[in-house]
Amino acid sequence: MGKASRDKRDIYYRKAKEEGWRARSAFKLLQIDEEFNIFEGVKRVVDLCAAPGSWSQVLSRKLYLPAKLAPDAKDEKLPLIVAIDLQPMAPIEGVIQVQGDITNARTAEVVIRHFDGCKADLVVCDGAPDVTGLHDMDEFVQSQLILAGLTIVTHVLKEGGKFIAKIFRGKDTSLLYCQLKLFFPVVTFAKPKSSRNSSIEAFAVCENYSPPEGFNPKDLHRLLEKVGSPSGVDDTDCVSGWLEGPNKVYIPFLACGDLTGYDSDRSYPLPKVDGGTYQSLDPVQPPIAPPYKRALELKKASTQGFKELENLSLDS
Ligand code: SAM
Repeated sequence: MGKASRDKRDIYYRKAKEEGWRARSAFKLLQIDEEFNIFEGVKRVVDLCAAPGSWSQVLSRKLYLPAKLAPDAKDEKLPLIVAIDLQPMAPIEGVIQVQGDITNARTAEVVIRHFDGCKADLVVCDGAPDVTGLHDMDEFVQSQLILAGLTIVTHVLKEGGKFIAKIFRGKDTSLLYCQLKLFFPVVTFAKPKSSRNSSIEAFAVCENYSPPEGFNPKDLHRLLEKVGSPSGVDDTDCVSGWLEGPNKVYIPFLACGDLTGYDSDRSYPLPKVDGGTYQSLDPVQPPIAPPYKRALELKKASTQGFKELENLSLDS
């Protein structure tokens, strides 16, 4: 797809470039905030699976920069933003970057160390595996990322804090909802307007972190496994038999963002500059080491190889 054609078919992609966001995902976090006011009072935040960095940009613009530019700004009062991804990311003002795998305990330790004994007010996780198109498989891998995120949450989030995590809606959505409800009394699944209807993605907005009494983070996986089992944990609204029958759980699901605003599934005409032609902007910050980099290098090398072969056969 050409740049202009993508600009036409993806209004949030175009708007992201116009507003200086590295990815259209920025609008998802902004629209979640419009509905849930997630940044209120936030001083410390963890951005899991952050590359190329549009959510970190939102955190920097909403939290760090206003505090830095305030008349009484002091370094020790500035918000702490820690961003983690497998991929390296170009720098963002006020964001500490950690390159690592969130499913690895070592990464969690590095994050915890940055907080130096203090706890975070907010953890966000926009993690996504490379999608295979096999829904069950994609949903499973996605749920592993959320559970890795939840593990970090149990170590770094303060009581009363919030956790926002990307989910893939599927047959295990109710299970995930009940698992999250063990730790958060209020869990809403939100679909921002900038997330396409055709996509199974949604976001779990988990409020007021309240781990069970006497909870030890080491017991997380054992506790999660008990959810939904006959001898399971019944201290949420997910009582035994929650999948069907009279106790069936109904998940609060909310569309968010200005519902009269741009529709991510629609094409919009391209604005012409001074009545002339449309000028497509370049992406704000292309990924600096994307996983597909090697494939592009190989493709380029083989195209060059073919050209050389062609020239040889023309010469002979
Ligand atoms: N929120 C980002 C933004 O606004 O720019 C976009 C995140 S992108 C949809 C998903 C990211 O998840 C990718 O950058 C990928 O490298 C990261 N990711 C996937 N699995 C991961 C893992 N196990 N640990 C850390 N990052 C991971």
